[in-house]
Amino acid sequence: MTIQAPKTEVVDKWNVACDGGKGGSGHPRVWVGVSHDDGAGKCDYCGQVYVHQDFPDAAK
Ligand SMILES: [Zn+2]
Repeated sequence: MTIQAPKTEVVDKWNVACDGGKGGSGHPRVWVGVSHDDGAGKCDYCGQVYVHQDFPDAAK
């Protein structure tokens, strides 16, 4: 049994289209909003976390 580590990806947009397609099972494409407060947004489907490049601390 494998526990997936939290995934983060640094992006330069405040809305990111996520379809879970990176070698995974995928899911319907949704838009993930990146918070202007903490610079992070999470996909409710696959758990992918998107961190805005202006918030490098949020990616840690
Ligand atoms: Zn996703």
